[in-house]
Amino acid sequence: MNYVILGNGIAGVTAAETIRQLDDPGQITLISDETFSPYCRPMISNLLEGAVDLSRLPVRSADFYEKNRITPILGTRAVSLDTDSQRVTTKDGQTHSYDRLLVATGADPRPIDAQGLDLDGVFFMRNIENVQQMINTLADVKHALVLGGGLVGFKAAYSLLRRNIAVTMLIGSGYPLSMQVDETAGQIIQQVLEKNGLTVRTGVFVTAFEGKKRLRTAHLSDGTRFDCDMCVIGKGVFPAHGFVPEKSIDTDAGIMVDDNMQTSVPGIYAAGDVAEHIDIARQQPWVNAIWPEAVAQGRVAGFNMAGYPVAYRGSLSRNVIRIFDTDLMTAGRVSPRDTDEACRFFSASDPARGTYRKLVFKEQILVGFVMINCIEQGGVLTSLIQGRTPVDIAEHNLLDPGFNVSRLMGRLTR
Ligand SMILES: Cc1cc2nc3c(=O)[nH]c(=O)nc-3n(C[C@H](O)[C@H](O)[C@H](O)COP(=O)(O)OP(=O)(O)OC[C@H]3O[C@@H](n4cnc5c(N)ncnc54)[C@H](O)[C@@H]3O)c2cc1C
Repeated sequence: MNYVILGNGIAGVTAAETIRQLDDPGQITLISDETFSPYCRPMISNLLEGAVDLSRLPVRSADFYEKNRITPILGTRAVSLDTDSQRVTTKDGQTHSYDRLLVATGADPRPIDAQGLDLDGVFFMRNIENVQQMINTLADVKHALVLGGGLVGFKAAYSLLRRNIAVTMLIGSGYPLSMQVDETAGQIIQQVLEKNGLTVRTGVFVTAFEGKKRLRTAHLSDGTRFDCDMCVIGKGVFPAHGFVPEKSIDTDAGIMVDDNMQTSVPGIYAAGDVAEHIDIARQQPWVNAIWPEAVAQGRVAGFNMAGYPVAYRGSLSRNVIRIFDTDLMTAGRVSPRDTDEACRFFSASDPARGTYRKLVFKEQILVGFVMINCIEQGGVLTSLIQGRTPVDIAEHNLLDPGFNVSRLMGRLTR
């Protein structure tokens, strides 16, 4: 069997090693435009922060490809896919035929519509190279602008604050991490960031960047100018499937996959940030672009590609983040834009201890939670959401600090 995998992120790499475990003689080719050994993408913000150096990022050993008898073709990208002749063409003009194909090309940063995007000092933050370029300019940076308060914008701002750089964040929504947390939690997070030097501005966006070669000023939509020497654009990502023929492969936001991670074309699979499957909390198709789901999807895709049917049960957005001395854990649906009238909320807070916890239920099913500084029961709650386990006790009991989660243990299914 001739397998071709596009993307050497964690989804592609996990699929490749799964296939190798199941199909010893199979031929595996992995094509990716990044040339680094497989690495932990979420940790690029720790690199920016200066908390780790490059040597801490790899997630596989240097001899990973050799050991698994994988042929790496790095430094080039897939530009077209012919599903009839079963061939991928790469940017260097080569074609690669396959019996089974995995698209694991991740996501690209969402660009903004502004002049001057090519100035030195204007960055996206998606890969090691982006962050290395950012680090090379840091000595000259006094004031950074971060566009967007989502996960990437938040992590960029946090890392720069840890470097003692003044940061101003422009956000469209009212508070940071609005896709992950509700307004109450968002405001607590914002206060923590502001206490540590962040300035947050809402309701304005950048229309143009100005500078000779290097960024010096951003022009804002309210007609004002903002002097800055660095800008990180963190306005979200979109699944990187531009080369996929949409007339044969069903796409929505991501590439649509069934429970075997197979696309609408037999023999072609997708996994990771590029793939769209069911969101467990929403019970509808969704792209949850997070690391643990990319790992799980890569593994399931690998099994199925090698001929061992395994079903993926759906994804769940979740994260644990430390913000200075504040711990945040969140999962599923928690913000109003994400929930509907049928949802019920239970919350508890203790301002003296800086804690806030909120549970969101739909009927008897827990569909989301956010917890600040009291995250101990987060693993159990996550399992309740993932298992869609009916909670047949008074739900607010789950927020009682003395509640013994062992009362639910027998019911946890995963
Ligand atoms: C700054 C940052 C912080 C993050 N923090 C968290 C976090 O705290 N928690 C969490 O769970 N997740 C986090 N994530 C998300 C997480 O990193 C991703 O969900 C995960 O890396 C997705 O893995 P993947 O293999 O699907 O895609 P990727 O890791 O994006 O890998 C895809 C690879 O394919 C390559 N590629 C793209 N197009 C092509 C093409 N046409 N041909 C060939 N190769 C191509 C790309 O260059 C890339 O190397 C963060 C991401 C970023 C950027």
